[in-house]
Amino acid sequence: MTPSIPAHLVDPFQRRINYLRLSVTDRCDFRCVYCMAEDMQFVPRAQVLSLEELYRVAQAAVGLGISKIRLTGGEPLVRRNILWLAEQLGALPGLETLALTTNGSQLARLAQPLQQAGVSTLNISLDSLRPRRFRELTRTGDLHQVLAGIDAAVSSGFQRIKLNAVILNGRNDDEALDLVEFARQRGIDIAFIEEMPLGRIDEHSRRLSFCSSAELRRRIAQRYTLAALGDPAGNAGPARYFSMPDSATRVGFISPHSNNFCHLCNRVRLTVEGRLLLCLGNEHSVDLRPLLRRPGSTRQELAEAIVAALALKPEKHHFTHDDEPEILRFMNTTGG
Ligand code: SAM
Ligand code: SF4
Repeated sequence: MTPSIPAHLVDPFQRRINYLRLSVTDRCDFRCVYCMAEDMQFVPRAQVLSLEELYRVAQAAVGLGISKIRLTGGEPLVRRNILWLAEQLGALPGLETLALTTNGSQLARLAQPLQQAGVSTLNISLDSLRPRRFRELTRTGDLHQVLAGIDAAVSSGFQRIKLNAVILNGRNDDEALDLVEFARQRGIDIAFIEEMPLGRIDEHSRRLSFCSSAELRRRIAQRYTLAALGDPAGNAGPARYFSMPDSATRVGFISPHSNNFCHLCNRVRLTVEGRLLLCLGNEHSVDLRPLLRRPGSTRQELAEAIVAALALKPEKHHFTHDDEPEILRFMNTTGG
């Protein structure tokens, strides 16, 4: 690396960027009602980055001080040969944390090999413990398959497992306490997420289904004692965590609406077509694919492109409760 390439990435608002979320596919075996429209258009295959191309971006980013990478999507575990990428990243010097977010459907088979490849922390989405409701929310998902995946993950020795639950008013808000209890029984963490207005959906009104973190916390605090934690995961981020005196489980709240966390932002995202997205809630981005596919392009050039892109990182998102989303890309194409 030449001296023009910095050892660390700092954005125009003096935020240190050390976290990259890599979307390895926009495809998924589920069609969650808040994430996707029922009939989704997926990215044409020719535009989808190969695993080698994804790895090259990761390598350049780690050279710039990125110390944490999360594999996400779409559903990362439906991408063919995903274990190859996990193994390459698991062995990448300088990468301290390799994380993965999954819907859990393939974990019964893949939890152990992922852990062995070097994935240390897993986020598993779980919005309901009732099979019929789970199917309604995911449109295609099978709760029992996901629960078997969670069991496999719990016995595979990951450093940290966290459940993610998107809570919709009138749909699953009555399960918040059951989900906390489920996490406590397994000694894993859980975070409740406010729905974000990404992509246009007709299935429900995002305005009417909004359930605030503050309201959930109030309900959970009626049964469990919650003590506010600073930053248990050791990385600044959007979740506020609470511990409970009688359990190792931590309860988090990710509140893009009710608690703007942009000043703590430490991350950028790579979409599966190679767009480096500087913010979840804005369209500011740089397309790295032409450079990646130009014969002979180097890691140095990729690093320079990433540094230049950082100058575009906006200060904050402007999510509203409107049913007309400002951001038309769906979460699955964003790399949630
Ligand atoms: N398929 C994997 C999964 O479901 O965990 C990884 C990708 S998914 C897009 C990542 C996370 O984003 C999931 O926890 C999901 O619940 C959440 N998510 C999807 N759409 C969302 C939305 N509109 N608002 C808030 N969270 C959303
Ligand atoms: Fe698939 Fe995850 Fe989106 Fe659900 S939230 S449709 S599992 S990508």
